[in-house]
Amino acid sequence: MNTPAEASDSHSLGHDHKKCVSEALGTAEHLCVVRGVQLTPIRHQVLELIWDSHKAVKAYELLDRIKPLQNAAKPATIYRALDFLIEQGLIHRVESLNAFVGCSCSGHQHEQLLLICNNCQEVEERSAPDVMQALSQEIKQADFIVHSKAIEIHGICATCAQTMSSEQV
Ligand SMILES: [Zn+2]
Ligand SMILES: [Zn+2]
Ligand SMILES: [Zn+2]
Repeated sequence: MNTPAEASDSHSLGHDHKKCVSEALGTAEHLCVVRGVQLTPIRHQVLELIWDSHKAVKAYELLDRIKPLQNAAKPATIYRALDFLIEQGLIHRVESLNAFVGCSCSGHQHEQLLLICNNCQEVEERSAPDVMQALSQEIKQADFIVHSKAIEIHGICATCAQTMSSEQV
């Protein structure tokens, strides 16, 4: 019953993350062709770096990682690429962390419930239709016009909780 304590820095061991990445990039390429927008090399690269894991990534971390690949990359380059990816619904901004995470259901604009792990920074996206509908009802009663709707919940993910409880033995 020994689990290896030193895994890689990601939880991605629990699933085939290569599949997540290839699916996300494939969807992005397809959507951009359909919409007639350009997934330029830099946009593609930023998206790929964000999909490195399911963790929320900050813009400066992306810049650090892209510098060795594209020496000329400047903060503005990264921000423009991020804006594009958000606009196309390919990534989400995690407001409470001022960071970004890849969206696994990017086919359409959608509301989202983000479960953010304070320990590993992984973000799980859930569509939570019941919650969102209840929320819409509430907002409607206030005659409030919604521009965007995302709920961010902070806590500890199942994987981290498991690791923590096994370390306490
Ligand atoms: Zn994955
Ligand atoms: Zn999404
Ligand atoms: Zn975690």
